[in-house]
Amino acid sequence: MMKAANRDFTRAVNQFNILNRIREAGRISRVEIADQTGQSRASVTNITAIMIKQGLIRESKCGCKPSRGRRRIMLSLNPDAAYVVGVKISAFQISFAVVDFVGEVKSSLIVPLRVSERAEAIVADVIEDGVRHCVEDARLRMTDISGCGVAVSGFVDSATGTCLWTPLYNRGKSRIRYLVAERLEMDVYLENDANSVTVASQWFGLGKGIDNFLVVTIEHGVGMGIVVDGKLYRGSSGIGAEFGHVVLVPGGEPCRCGKLGCIEAYGCDGSILRRAKEILSRRRGSEIDLDTLTIEDVTQMAIKGDAALKKLFREGGEILGQGISGLIQIFNPERIIVTGEGVRAGDILFKPMNRAIRKFLNKEQAEATEIVIQEWNDNDWARGAAGFVLSELYKSPLDKIHRAG
Ligand SMILES: [Zn+2]
Repeated sequence: MMKAANRDFTRAVNQFNILNRIREAGRISRVEIADQTGQSRASVTNITAIMIKQGLIRESKCGCKPSRGRRRIMLSLNPDAAYVVGVKISAFQISFAVVDFVGEVKSSLIVPLRVSERAEAIVADVIEDGVRHCVEDARLRMTDISGCGVAVSGFVDSATGTCLWTPLYNRGKSRIRYLVAERLEMDVYLENDANSVTVASQWFGLGKGIDNFLVVTIEHGVGMGIVVDGKLYRGSSGIGAEFGHVVLVPGGEPCRCGKLGCIEAYGCDGSILRRAKEILSRRRGSEIDLDTLTIEDVTQMAIKGDAALKKLFREGGEILGQGISGLIQIFNPERIIVTGEGVRAGDILFKPMNRAIRKFLNKEQAEATEIVIQEWNDNDWARGAAGFVLSELYKSPLDKIHRAG
């Protein structure tokens, strides 16, 4: 006879697979779940009954007219099964989003803050206030929130929740997770920002149902997430991909990581803005205030035809494209999702990028991978951080069994 612990484990695995199937399908019948997961109909009926009782999923009638017999009963996730909050710490702002069980944003908030000029305890205070405010805005209580995800750029060991290095401070270990957890008194997960967005697209976005895809994020820096065989790939040290700091131009432009000629030193908001300021500071008779100049201003000037600035985007796009062509040759992904604030630049960045990708690949390789430029919303980083917490919650039945064993 099967041992009790084994039976619990099997049930947890079955429950996880069923939940996963429902999440991927959106709406699905019990019969389809049984067919697609290979579980018996009796087992599916059993387990889904428990999950309905727990409030994880709910029933609804199929909208379609049946050709014969009764209308089919469909299952979907219950959006109110859990709420989580996501926080993204950027160079100049902290953004927040409260998200429900299906990844819908219930409330969001952006607080401007020059993070690098503030002590970590102050940043943690701002995060606490922001989270409380955002939760209230969503008409929820703090006790309704199942966890908080904090996303930062840099090297994050997510298993231990340690930030080993972040360009925000340009120095070693950060205590931010500990400081936030202490204030919020809930589970706090720290994750690399690009990894968070990648997990969120895998669970709720353009990566849903795709086993091999990459995400390249363009904002102040360049980030990347890798999904191989349906799993986030973290490398041997668990810190993830640092595509932005691959050197493509030896001896080239300085990068904020300390090296010269990184992809990030050309193809992101931070480097394009820095280089634009250099160009404009040399221009005689220019009345532009360089201190308040933003990447949005620079982008507009380039789109309107400022040739020198447009060239910066072209170079950035070319370097990004060269880098991405390398990724395609290594990973042969089904899709590459390019996203982040930087997508605002549009054609002046992506036409040269796509040209470079084609130039450095042969036709078959180029055709095997779909490049998708995904529009970016202000709260997408925070939503990504929240999505990471949701994916952890989904997995929790298994984890609990592991720990008990
Ligand atoms: Zn670098």
